[in-house]
Amino acid sequence: MYLYNSATHKKEEFVTHTPNHVEMYTCGPTVYHFAHIGNLRSYIMEDVLEKALRWRGYDVNRVMNITDVGHLASDADTGEDKMLKGAKRENKSVMDIAKFYTDAFFDDCKKLNIKTPDVVQPATGLIDEFIKVVSALIDKEYAYVAGGNVYFDTSKLDRYYVFNDHDEEDLAVGVREGVEEDANKRNKNDFVLWFTKSKFEDQALKWDSPWGVGYPGWHIECSCISMKFNGEYLDLHCGGVDNAFPHHTNEIAQSEAYLGHPWCKQWFHVHHLNTNSGKMSKSKGEFLTVSLLEEKGYDPLAYRFFCLQSHYRKGLVFTWENLDNAVGAYNKLIKRVAALGGDDGAVDQGVLGACADKFGEALDNDLNTSMAVTCVYDALKADTNAATKRAIIGSYDLVLGLDLIKKADALREKEAAQAKTAGADGFTIQGEGDPAIDALVLQRAEAKKAKNFAEADRIRDELKAQGIEVTDVPGGAVWKRV
Ligand code: AMP
Ligand code: ZN
Repeated sequence: MYLYNSATHKKEEFVTHTPNHVEMYTCGPTVYHFAHIGNLRSYIMEDVLEKALRWRGYDVNRVMNITDVGHLASDADTGEDKMLKGAKRENKSVMDIAKFYTDAFFDDCKKLNIKTPDVVQPATGLIDEFIKVVSALIDKEYAYVAGGNVYFDTSKLDRYYVFNDHDEEDLAVGVREGVEEDANKRNKNDFVLWFTKSKFEDQALKWDSPWGVGYPGWHIECSCISMKFNGEYLDLHCGGVDNAFPHHTNEIAQSEAYLGHPWCKQWFHVHHLNTNSGKMSKSKGEFLTVSLLEEKGYDPLAYRFFCLQSHYRKGLVFTWENLDNAVGAYNKLIKRVAALGGDDGAVDQGVLGACADKFGEALDNDLNTSMAVTCVYDALKADTNAATKRAIIGSYDLVLGLDLIKKADALREKEAAQAKTAGADGFTIQGEGDPAIDALVLQRAEAKKAKNFAEADRIRDELKAQGIEVTDVPGGAVWKRV
């Protein structure tokens, strides 16, 4: 498999430390608010990557942190504490906020068919490990104590800027923008590993440490969580592109200084979901969530389909019109899969293998998901029987996660239920194929036929109470939810 590597700025063959095994790490959510659909674009593409690796036969150990402490709004020692901001906004404790939004995040993931990582570790659960690593960094003289805080000394590294070709001065100015100077720092890019003196006097979560009572910096959690659960050699690190600097840059600095050898080879960065007014962001306050899409009647998997239609290394513009187009294409695709019928006949293994090769090529080409989706259309057109087409699509969907077979089967069942009701006594019922409602509609028709109008009205009221409106038409009835 070839993947673009942000660390080398090239598409490279993906090689793992241990053959056929991938140690994979993903920066998890900061749980002070709902994830927006931009965050979820990153998680969808990372999920597709994980599934593509598994589809390719790798055994994957995927680890994710939950940032429930220490994530400040801008750099490590400036800005506002996001968790505290969330707690104040909702008048709850920081831990209650963290629990609520962690659950909400995984609910959203479930709706989007995003698999839960093998290990999910909240930062607050591993403080001893952070203290151990920070102490070791001080012992190795990669870190120093100043003004009550512990800082990482970036001047000790041969190469600090890993992901960008900017020269140091440019970036240093970029980093300083809107950020107050911290007089304790020896170098302007030094970052905090542990705070005891913070301008946030009301910091809710604090722990004892060799440097006094305080809390960890933003970046240390990911290094420590990965080193603990992925081991010393990480094969693949993922996150949104905004994480590359300073977060991932600082993760590399700490981890390699601690380990004394190169840490992670492959860096996978998902580009942003943008609105017409720029990057979708939680801190701006206005953003779209999965629940909001559902309230507006959108199937979350149609959003997943929308994401898969474009490449992860290109910005994606969200508009309702773009989403509606994706919904139309997704529903049409499900109808076409449904039209294949059920699994009758034998699967042609030759055709199945040839299609798998094409699909694999799309994945191997830097996770070309739009090409992978095109493979589904090609399978529908393939010169083979329905059972083979369904087997091909089912196999692709292990990676795409669009529930194509499941939704196609549900659609066929619904249509079959409608057709069955139509056959009963020549009386046609058009609705949503709900057998319980159809039965009541039929009972009402029979009551009317027997001139038992009181019973017919009673059933109409019963249906109304369930939010169902029935309209009589020649030869039958139509019902709908109102
Ligand atoms: P956060 O919860 O803010 O820590 O972000 C969670 C993940 O979403 C990180 O990997 C971010 O890089 C990523 N992210 C943030 N904003 C966007 C966006 N507009 N589009 C895609 N990914 C994003
Ligand atoms: Zn991280």
